[in-house]
Amino acid sequence: MESLSNYQELWDKTRNVLATKYAESIYNELFKESYVYRFFGNQIVVIVPTPYVETKINRTYLPVINEILAGLTIEKLEFKFQTKASFDSEVVKPERTSFLRSNNLDTNYSFENFVKGDSNILAFRSAMKVAETPGVMNPLYIFGSVGLGKTHLIQAIGNYVSEVYPHYKILYVQSIDFIKEYSQATQTKNMTPFIEKYDNLDLLLVDDIQQLAIGDKTQFEFFNLFNEMYMKHKQIVIASDCPANKLKIMDRLSSRFASGMVVDITPPDLQQRIDILKKKMEERNVSVNISNEALEFIANNFTDNIRILDGALTRVLNYNELVTQSSIISLDETRVALDKLLQSTVASKTNDIDTIIDVISEFYQVSRADLVSPNRNQKYVLPRQICMYLLKNNYDLTYSKIGKILGGRDHSTVMSGSTKIEKEIKTNPELKSALDTIISKLKRVDE
Ligand code: ADP
Ligand code: MG
Repeated sequence: MESLSNYQELWDKTRNVLATKYAESIYNELFKESYVYRFFGNQIVVIVPTPYVETKINRTYLPVINEILAGLTIEKLEFKFQTKASFDSEVVKPERTSFLRSNNLDTNYSFENFVKGDSNILAFRSAMKVAETPGVMNPLYIFGSVGLGKTHLIQAIGNYVSEVYPHYKILYVQSIDFIKEYSQATQTKNMTPFIEKYDNLDLLLVDDIQQLAIGDKTQFEFFNLFNEMYMKHKQIVIASDCPANKLKIMDRLSSRFASGMVVDITPPDLQQRIDILKKKMEERNVSVNISNEALEFIANNFTDNIRILDGALTRVLNYNELVTQSSIISLDETRVALDKLLQSTVASKTNDIDTIIDVISEFYQVSRADLVSPNRNQKYVLPRQICMYLLKNNYDLTYSKIGKILGGRDHSTVMSGSTKIEKEIKTNPELKSALDTIISKLKRVDE
């Protein structure tokens, strides 16, 4: 029996028996709101809602409960009932800190705050299993492109294991740091710090293993470390941006990686992206609400990297806090907040400033010469101001630099022109749609 859901099932079965033994009021009061949280040694930790329930169960019902459990499984298991607070306080008890290992994990990454969906469920379940029973499914190799949660998952494994097995020696390492440390050790002819760090590990989490390709000698060292841990049934978890057979490393090593459990993470679908945004909202603990259309807009525009998706949400929240201060974030507000971000993806593709000017002059049927001329005819002023606005918002250019590009105009002219467009697109749908068309043309030019 290896996963928490199996233990939850055992608890559910036990509860069903309790429901037949005791009055409904007792059942509802003591057993209804509880769930399996952890498994240590042979104890299944069940979290109960209040200290009262905790005491009551432990004083009166524990023997009966464990007797029921004994009838359900041949394994020697017992339940332990605790509130979440008492569980937490036990884990971080000061007298235990002396043997709590320190590690370099980021405790913000947990299984609880990892949003699951088709794209990552297999990776998630494998990670959970590895964390619950380290050394059994070895190695675990997780691959997928950037920003899809690989680091999150492997760090979550580390955090879970360090909580359940506080004496374990756990190490999270970026491959590039492994290479650096190893070459430093060989150059200074002092292997001691390296050996101390990597010797006798119980759990090794190696991130971005594709980087190992650049450290030839290091690959052998890593191979030795891997083998030693593998023989001792110590868990190794590897994250990579590609499948093992695509790694530019020695075959002996990549075939070891492929011999364990291999799982990939793919980009999340729309629903999962929305779930992620909701979860991130919840975590931020802000009082503002966000409309569903706004969430969908964000989820539709940032599709293949969860870090960037989350960054877009942050931007919307900041904009709300600093500018609009509305109590429910609307779709319009979200559009405006993300405008620059969405356009900068245009800019990053379109490196040519001239293209912006060309596309605009073509769109407004004016010549490039007129656009940068002193002529203040309204026919030229608007396209010129749109140029100012797009250049300002897509490039790291000062107003005076933009002024120079547009025929030697001064800083304040450019600033007021750009600001005027920025304001006007909020109220003038015609202008907004003209701008959208220009942006889409820019995107096409780039392709
Ligand atoms: P990778 O290592 O694959 O490049 P990360 O693990 O660094 O990606 O993830 C990027 C960011 O997105 C992190 O802040 C991470 O917490 C978040 N993230 C990724 N996947 C999820 C998920 N399924 N649920 C919640 N947050 C996620
Ligand atoms: Mg990563």
